[in-house]
Amino acid sequence: MSIRSILRIVSRKSFLRALTGCTTILFLGLILLGGCKKRQVTVPTPLMNADPQYWVRVLLLNDTNNCTLQIPSAFNIENADPNQQTQALSTHIYQHDEQTRIQLSNGAFFLAGKTFECRQIIISTGSPHIFSLNGNDYRGKLKLIIGPDGNSFDAINLIPLEPYLAGVIGAEMPDYWEPEALKAQVIAARTYCLYIKRRFGPKRNWDVSKTAAHQVYLGVSSESAAIWNAVHQTEGMVLTCKQNNGKEDIFPAYYSSTCGGHTESSRNVFGDSFEPLIGVPCPFCKNVAKPKFFFWPMVQIEKDYITNKLFQRYEKISLLGEIKDIAVAGQSNYEDFSRLTRIEVLGSSGKKENLRAEDFRLTIDPTGNKIKSACFVLIDLGDSWAFTSGRGWGHGVGMCQCGAQGMARKSKTAKQILSHYYPGSKISTIDY
Ligand SMILES: [Zn+2]
Repeated sequence: MSIRSILRIVSRKSFLRALTGCTTILFLGLILLGGCKKRQVTVPTPLMNADPQYWVRVLLLNDTNNCTLQIPSAFNIENADPNQQTQALSTHIYQHDEQTRIQLSNGAFFLAGKTFECRQIIISTGSPHIFSLNGNDYRGKLKLIIGPDGNSFDAINLIPLEPYLAGVIGAEMPDYWEPEALKAQVIAARTYCLYIKRRFGPKRNWDVSKTAAHQVYLGVSSESAAIWNAVHQTEGMVLTCKQNNGKEDIFPAYYSSTCGGHTESSRNVFGDSFEPLIGVPCPFCKNVAKPKFFFWPMVQIEKDYITNKLFQRYEKISLLGEIKDIAVAGQSNYEDFSRLTRIEVLGSSGKKENLRAEDFRLTIDPTGNKIKSACFVLIDLGDSWAFTSGRGWGHGVGMCQCGAQGMARKSKTAKQILSHYYPGSKISTIDY
């Protein structure tokens, strides 16, 4: 066994970023311990009359051909097909808390015994504006869109921003954490959502997915009194910074589970450059994250497996020939550790290709549950690579969630927490 090369790396985008992080694990653990018991819904869905710019379209189901819907009261079905002038297909159906199966029939929706000859419908309910899709409760409305092939459809939750956040925060952070940490998390999540909606929404039928690819969204099951308090006490608050045009505006307020001691510059991970995302020291997460998450154990992966993953994802790498070496091409160095920012793949053709370390890590381990961050040393074991000296969980950009909890334990306010992790940012408030 010989040590041929040593790498150091770190991780990708926000919590699915962060959901691959410790807080999510803690949360999922709570769900399991709780036997999936549904929380009592005590809060009416607020802001149902909010301006459309403050609604969020969350992709719940992608390319499905059936689902079950349950609504304990009357609901309305509206023709939302932009290519049809009439809304004449709107109707009312009353269900006695029975499940209704939604499926496609000859390219049209079939539910509750009726066929709806349109490619998009919106299902809405009365107060408290809650419906159940495949057994999970969500607030707001449900939009269904038939795909181009006519054989499948997407299910999208239309929901005002504030109740959306109530469905996110309990999934991204344990609700028993310090109230100031929860409030900082809400403000970051609100800012991130609005930024993503504005940047990508016009190109898609939805704004965000329900997974860690954006922010984990569990709907009503994420809610609790503590979560709603954090949402209400920060209502409308977002983070802004000075943009390239000199104006103050929102920015992608990324966050991740455990930075390992220093957050990373967004330029090195996502390729964008906003002043508040430059990376800052974080002495706060070490005492909050579990030791096995702060220092994660060695991961050993066969070289053939890594080669296949890289070839499948990157055609440019498959053209290099047999992979001969993987080496560090860039790293951020901190006081007692480093985070890989770029890696270089050398092929038998003699040519090289360069990748972001975060993309490299998540190509090999898409869940991020094994190679938890790009803070590691890569050791050549002959037939396999060992990822050792692992540290932190998540991409490390923006707020460190465990660090936010650490600061809140030291009596820091949400504003102080956000000022630390997003230096130069300001808090503005949306007027709904
Ligand atoms: Zn940290």
